[in-house]
Amino acid sequence: MTGGGLVVGRTALVTGAGQGIGLAIARILHEHGARVVVTDQDAALAATAAERLGGGEPVSSLGCDVTGEEAVTAAVNHAVERFGTLDILVNNAGITRDATLRRMTLADFEAVVDVHLKGTWLGVRAAAEVMRAAGSGSIINISSLSGKSGNFGQTNYSAAKAGIIGLTKAAAKELAPRGVRVNAVQPGLIRTAMTEAMPPDVFAAREADIPMKRAGEPHEVAGAVLFLASDLSSYMTGAVLEVGGGRLM
Ligand code: NAP
Repeated sequence: MTGGGLVVGRTALVTGAGQGIGLAIARILHEHGARVVVTDQDAALAATAAERLGGGEPVSSLGCDVTGEEAVTAAVNHAVERFGTLDILVNNAGITRDATLRRMTLADFEAVVDVHLKGTWLGVRAAAEVMRAAGSGSIINISSLSGKSGNFGQTNYSAAKAGIIGLTKAAAKELAPRGVRVNAVQPGLIRTAMTEAMPPDVFAAREADIPMKRAGEPHEVAGAVLFLASDLSSYMTGAVLEVGGGRLM
């Protein structure tokens, strides 16, 4: 999109944006006029993803492991130094380490909670610092319907994704008087590398359970994020948008 869009003139930072849902979010924000900082724990992947966004507003990329306090602060500072401001932060980076309680190790639990819950908290805290001072901003945290329903074999992931909802609402209350909105998106089953790792029969069974009878595509999650990033959602904070084809309504 040239000359128009829903987030023209804004600066956005997306974590875990080297591929999948994060890349789709970076793309739609860029298409709608934002300057985008593409970050991922793999700096080379982030750089390639940023190149793939193409022309238009400037983009930048950076390696950022969201579990590192300094790395997250550095990413936020990079956005401000490069583009003068940070208006939109999307905490998207994620991993799974599925196993039943019988087999899940403490390391599996801690790794997942670290990336999702600690990583999101670090992002919210660092962005809030900049946005509070500016008196405006929109933070979007990517949760999961797994955090609403609990998924078999995901005691770690479901706990972390439910925790993100509590974090979102608490931060929304703190930051609302400062003009900063904090919302969450709960995707259902979305076709990415994360879900490609699922056995095909399990994937098919999950799809059959969805009223719309199909998995979602990354750009369908990105649309909800764009809405929350833009002024179209100016009176929404602490909200949770479900993007799941009708699953678990
Ligand atoms: P994906 O394709 O695996 O992409 C996630 C990206 O995050 C990967 O590039 C990954 O890098 C990166 N990442 C992992 N750990 C990181 C860290 N510590 N710091 C920075 N980046 C890190 O997954 P996706 O499906 O797009 O998922 C994106 C988000 O949506 C996640 O929060 C996920 O939980 C959530 N979600 C996904 C679904 C779904 O069905 N796909 C459903 C609900 C919610 P590596 O590849 O190197 O690990």
